[in-house]
Amino acid sequence: MQAAAKASKEETAPEFIDVVFKRNAQGEIKGVVTRDCKSIPMTLRDHYTMHKDDPVYHDDDFYENPGKTPRRKIVFVFGYRPEKLENWQGALPKDGEEWTCEVIKDTTPEDPWRGALVVKLVTNLTAFKEAQRRKEEERLSIIMRQKNDPMEEYSITLEKAQAIEKFALAFAEKRGLNMAVKTLEVFWGYPASIYDFGNVPTHHRQEVAEIVRMARDICVHYKILTYSARLWLEHLLKTGVGETTFAYHGKRNVNCHSCGGIMKFSKEEKNKFARGEEILLVCEHCAKKGPVNK
Ligand SMILES: [Zn+2]
Repeated sequence: MQAAAKASKEETAPEFIDVVFKRNAQGEIKGVVTRDCKSIPMTLRDHYTMHKDDPVYHDDDFYENPGKTPRRKIVFVFGYRPEKLENWQGALPKDGEEWTCEVIKDTTPEDPWRGALVVKLVTNLTAFKEAQRRKEEERLSIIMRQKNDPMEEYSITLEKAQAIEKFALAFAEKRGLNMAVKTLEVFWGYPASIYDFGNVPTHHRQEVAEIVRMARDICVHYKILTYSARLWLEHLLKTGVGETTFAYHGKRNVNCHSCGGIMKFSKEEKNKFARGEEILLVCEHCAKKGPVNK
């Protein structure tokens, strides 16, 4: 009696899981758990029987916790049956959609491999991820929508744009934004033959190798890579990412309070600063933007 009371008390804490739902023409809706607050240790058999089409197999959580697997139970939406489809009030998952759900009932709590979970829908993860993706596409639109001569029809996917951004930032981190822009411009102008290594100036050999490797890795033409990486860095030079302030140390030296990096005033900036005008800089190293403290 006491044990039962204790068990029911524990069950009152809400339990959230992620579920991929399948919906067929007859209106049946069944789900598979992809992320589970009650994941179970995986056996060797699980590794071998897990099918590559299994949604669990593709879930990030599976890779983050390789020794664990969500409970292997069928998931049903609380209160729903196919005959209720026409008059159903509220949301229902579309075929293939992933939702965060609250577990209402586990029909066989003692066995993680059998039975069903009855759930209430909480958040449409598929719609959420799509919205995130659209935001990310908007953020990287400068890279994605660029048109470049040698391949006018080239389309850059979001994944490629993200890889190009990463490359551009790493390229700039080593050299500073301004120098990186100049270097990329030089490389962009090189003829294709130079990428065969035949006639690369020695001091550029390593950088060309870096670009060739990256272009191969993400499957874009080296001209696309150098051009769009440059566009992105120029964009950062104009807009900055995030905010910082700078301190002036004399002899044209300025340092960024955010990353500690040191840059130099141009002569013009130095004169303006001496006249007491406000100077806004973008950090060469971390691309943050801000004023130079007086
Ligand atoms: Zn900085």
